[in-house]
Amino acid sequence: MNSKENSTKDNNEMDEIEKNVCHECIGNKSLKEFIKAEGKKQPCSYCGRYRKAVGFDSFYDAIMDGVCYAYSRAVDELPVDEGEYVGKTYTSQDLIYDELSDEIAANDDRILDDIVENMPDETWCDKDPFDNRADDDFYSWDAFSKMVREKMRFVFYRISEENNRSLQPSDILDLISHYTREVRLTRAIRSSTKLYRCRTLDNDQWYTNPDDYGPPDSANAVAGRMNAAGIEMLYLAMDEETTLQEAYSPNREYAVVVQYRVEEPLYVLDLARLEKMKMPSVFDKENRDASHAIRFLKMFAKDISKQRMNKNTDTEYVPTQIVTEFFRYVNRKDGDRYDGICYSSSLNPGGTCLVLFMNREDVRRGKNGIHLIPSETHFYKKQFCELKDAKTAKAKGELFVNAKIAQSGNTPTEDIAASSFGSSKKSLV
Ligand SMILES: [Zn+2]
Repeated sequence: MNSKENSTKDNNEMDEIEKNVCHECIGNKSLKEFIKAEGKKQPCSYCGRYRKAVGFDSFYDAIMDGVCYAYSRAVDELPVDEGEYVGKTYTSQDLIYDELSDEIAANDDRILDDIVENMPDETWCDKDPFDNRADDDFYSWDAFSKMVREKMRFVFYRISEENNRSLQPSDILDLISHYTREVRLTRAIRSSTKLYRCRTLDNDQWYTNPDDYGPPDSANAVAGRMNAAGIEMLYLAMDEETTLQEAYSPNREYAVVVQYRVEEPLYVLDLARLEKMKMPSVFDKENRDASHAIRFLKMFAKDISKQRMNKNTDTEYVPTQIVTEFFRYVNRKDGDRYDGICYSSSLNPGGTCLVLFMNREDVRRGKNGIHLIPSETHFYKKQFCELKDAKTAKAKGELFVNAKIAQSGNTPTEDIAASSFGSSKKSLV
């Protein structure tokens, strides 16, 4: 009996030592590359083919490196209540078969079986101390939001030695900013791109002053998801339908959509791109650190896209306002400039919204070559029923004239006249 047990064990150990895994048996890109780089041509124990393969031990080490990156031993992380862990836990088997099998993408289930067989009999939990310890670490959107809503709002960026946490609050935004470049979230809005802005009205006394379609001036700028009260920004959409949906108010019967174009390319932080972005694999040593930042930015994007709330806006919008302000001013220090942020519309799925860091004066002066195209103005009643009558024609005509006047005011005609008179450059020196 005893000898039989021993011989079985020996056979198993022999199996483990002799097994090889080839790159074709594993779908995960990082693991595949690892096998190709480290392996030598030998028969694969699973598919039987003669290919680049590594010994099972080194393959198992690569798996465990990923496991330990994303998961911890429950005994090290989770509180215990009446003998039970408080929080989600996994057995080794759960981890490999339920949580990681899609990511590993093994062609043969025996590979997963062998991984589990080798793993210690351990209870695991998510390695997510950021969310578990919201008071101690701000590298999660929830924790960051909680801090700036409930604890400190205006000076956190200067707090550096408050306690022993590994990441200081100021580090978080810097890291986020670093990863926005790493994962390429900058989008160029090419010149001549059409941008739309909607204003709703109680009646058909259409606005005919271009300023009325620009951002409200500081005294009238109410808090938005991205701007604190008093700070002006230009909220736009990339298509007409989206701006109508975003601006829709059931209490207002009428709406106008105007079209802007810019004559210089704009560079914006593209949060819409995050939606299609896959999280880096836990086995991807080079890129997996970005997953914290991607998660942070995804939550930021989700909050920005949320419909406007009318209650408790004082604190509701604070986190997104702070991060927006960071991207507007601080992020420039590394040479990247952001002219705005684009994000997915929650009210018109598939549509994209855009906020440009421009105030009323910037729009008036034609910063970035921005200008109104009055002939493309559309008037609506009951949200989507377009109006074309004498009154809208008159309004369009007046807007055209007023925009011309405003634009001619923009060109420094007096300066041109003065400088073209004689050798202006000399006189300017
Ligand atoms: Zn194979």
